[in-house]
Amino acid sequence: MPFQFDALSSADLPARVAKIQRLIPPQVRLIAVTKTFPAAVVRAAYAAGLREFAENKVQEALTKQAELGDLTDVTWHFIGHLQSNKTRKVLESFDWVHSIDSLKLATRLDRQAADLGRQPNCCLQVKLAPDPTKDGFDPAELMAALPALDQLCHLNIQGLMVIAPYGLQPEQTQAVFERAQALAAKIEQQGWQRITMNELSMGMSDDFELAIAAGATLVRIGSGLFGRRN
Ligand SMILES: *Cc1c(COP(=O)(O)O)cnc(C)c1O
Repeated sequence: MPFQFDALSSADLPARVAKIQRLIPPQVRLIAVTKTFPAAVVRAAYAAGLREFAENKVQEALTKQAELGDLTDVTWHFIGHLQSNKTRKVLESFDWVHSIDSLKLATRLDRQAADLGRQPNCCLQVKLAPDPTKDGFDPAELMAALPALDQLCHLNIQGLMVIAPYGLQPEQTQAVFERAQALAAKIEQQGWQRITMNELSMGMSDDFELAIAAGATLVRIGSGLFGRRN
């Protein structure tokens, strides 16, 4: 039975967090996706015990983070498509970048991370099923880019990030996540100097249980915690 969510009431938040946490094994981290929700919602989630938050738009995130500067033990994850004119801001304000979808973007982030004295944790976003609405390395392209990615010493490349296309049957979604797990294992076996595959960032409100069954270590949940976005 997939996890079901209903309309948001912030009074429910501690119960929702607890309900989702019960479905997530201890080695998997819950990242709360707060895009489109105001800073007050992030604060309520923090009060409910969450410490990892994700945003997909740079300007929206910076505005929210400015209101939440007193929450010093929060980890911020960037999960959106990253345009090259926003990379510096992302490096300054996020601990993780899940959405590295090209060697060009990785190279730019590495150079700017060096300038800024940052060492972000990163995932390589990979596209494992046709999806015109999503970015990501094609698997063959990713394999070919690994030697160059392994040279980027200012990025901690920790694993893969996958978004299952919307509207698949559960078996098809499961297959996408299993492909991600197999690809990560293949990369790990190659024994790179710097790249590790410790993390698999996959699973959202509707499919996180399938993702966990296929080895997800980071699940990114928005509407399941906060209700539907407008
Ligand atoms: C919005 C978003 C999520 C969360 O989606 P929900 O279905 O609301 O849980 C997860 N990952 C990415 C990349 C997103 O953009």
